[in-house]
Amino acid sequence: MTKPQLQEFRKRLLEERNKFAGELKTIARKSSKNPRDSSGDLSAYTVHMADMSADTYEREMDVNIASSEQKVLYQIDEALKRLEEDAYGTCQQCNKPVSLSRLKAVPYTELCIQCQRTKEHKK
Ligand SMILES: [Zn+2]
Repeated sequence: MTKPQLQEFRKRLLEERNKFAGELKTIARKSSKNPRDSSGDLSAYTVHMADMSADTYEREMDVNIASSEQKVLYQIDEALKRLEEDAYGTCQQCNKPVSLSRLKAVPYTELCIQCQRTKEHKK
């Protein structure tokens, strides 16, 4: 990979990082505004489950989104680390180069398409 290409990926990774970090902050702010379900009172929670309000549903969604975004954020950090170490674009499984088109689609990917398929197949 050439220097300008690496620069371009670094830029994109930093942009993605900002975006995800910002979304996580928004979700955290939204959740803390409405702390009534986070008391840890399980009996109250069970009652809520029986008649799950749209509000609770939305918060459940937010928790799901937040945890998957946290995972992406971690992957972005790892990709940036690999950029620093000149290991960017190398599959973490088989050590072969990840195709450029795949990196362009998902700049923080750590697996080549073959390894990704194998991994998804195992699930
Ligand atoms: Zn691979």
